[in-house]
Amino acid sequence: MKVLVIGGGAREHALCRSLSQDPAVTELHCAPGNAGIAQVATVHPVDQLDGARVTALARGLGVELVVVGPEAPLVAGVADAVRAAGIAVFGPSAEAALLEGSKAFAKDVMAAAGVPTARSYVCTTPAEAAEALDAFGAPYVVKDDGLAAGKGVVVTSDREEALAHAAACEQVVIEEYLDGPEVSLFAITDGSTVLPLQPAQDFKRALDGDQGPNTGGMGAYSPLPWAPEGLVEEVLATVLQPTVDELRRRGTPFSGLLYAGLALTSRGTRVIEFNARFGDPETQVVLARLRTPLADVLHASATGTLDQLEPLRWDEGAAVTVVIAAEGYPAAPRTGDPIEGLAEAEAADGTAYVLHAGTKAAEDGRVLSAGGRVLSVTATGAGLAEARERAYRAVERISLAGGQHRGDIALKAAQ
Ligand code: AMP
Repeated sequence: MKVLVIGGGAREHALCRSLSQDPAVTELHCAPGNAGIAQVATVHPVDQLDGARVTALARGLGVELVVVGPEAPLVAGVADAVRAAGIAVFGPSAEAALLEGSKAFAKDVMAAAGVPTARSYVCTTPAEAAEALDAFGAPYVVKDDGLAAGKGVVVTSDREEALAHAAACEQVVIEEYLDGPEVSLFAITDGSTVLPLQPAQDFKRALDGDQGPNTGGMGAYSPLPWAPEGLVEEVLATVLQPTVDELRRRGTPFSGLLYAGLALTSRGTRVIEFNARFGDPETQVVLARLRTPLADVLHASATGTLDQLEPLRWDEGAAVTVVIAAEGYPAAPRTGDPIEGLAEAEAADGTAYVLHAGTKAAEDGRVLSAGGRVLSVTATGAGLAEARERAYRAVERISLAGGQHRGDIALKAAQ
């Protein structure tokens, strides 16, 4: 199978790494890719938001499967353009991707499907926002309705800050605060059959101890030793399958990756958000544990044949990923700094490796930072403690001027 992956972050590097290890994949391409992806795939400098260009590239290369990684091309209709050209594509239509692209739409789908989520109001004026904030009380949760790369949510006990965020967005969803630990559960679906993957947990705040601003994600681990038994089955029955069924009923079937961000509250499991694609950085740890070759799974989603797939096989061990971000991330990341120690960080036995996020290769062969999140250093082990130790050992070997990472990824879960 010839495969083209769209995107250029650590999630796409993880996808490309798994696909490159799949014996069924004869050719692997990525657009636009990054310096790390270029080591396992042929990269093409094509604008990932341009459906016509992506389709032309897929046609020119004669690929049998296009895998769309990030949300922005999905919401922009890139999967629709590729599908219209008769090429199998992993990723939902723009209409179905609204599940991520509009928080208000997601709330509407959940209400119709009876999916448990936080009570909420959609607000467009300061007066509406003030009323909603007072209805729920502190802590306040204010979400930009549109795509915001994981940074559109403000959770605060400061009413002025909550109001200011609402005023800065065109439309916001204000909702009740959900207590309890968070879980990311991915499922692969073809619009009917839903195949849950293994749960993971990510770390959204920039600093240790969940302090500092929200980011795209600073690290992740899987499995979750503390998760209640039967969690995956429960979420499949109460969240994933009803949502997929509701979207099919509306005439906008969702195929691709359905990501449920969940809070395990004292009153039961609640959906915090849906995403329409693999999460970054959770994908890095989930794919590190997936033993089933990836290409067939994604192709079965793209062609509506998931019901014929063998059950997925998983590594019993654990995986941890630690994100190295640029100085100034998330507000104003500095780019263009050289990264050293990449080869030294990798373990010869494959138990630790570096996935690139925002990097680019300079003409002199050096690798330079080119984004807010720069690297996602990933390791596996028999348990979380071992995976964690290997990941941090690898992180220590890498140098990036001003680089920052959290020191507490998977710490509590490993104890
Ligand atoms: P989201 O982009 O919707 O995943 O929100 C980003 C982060 O904000 C989540 O991972 C949570 O930590 C937090 N968050 C979002 N919604 C709520 C909520 N209703 N209650 C508490 N925390 C929330």
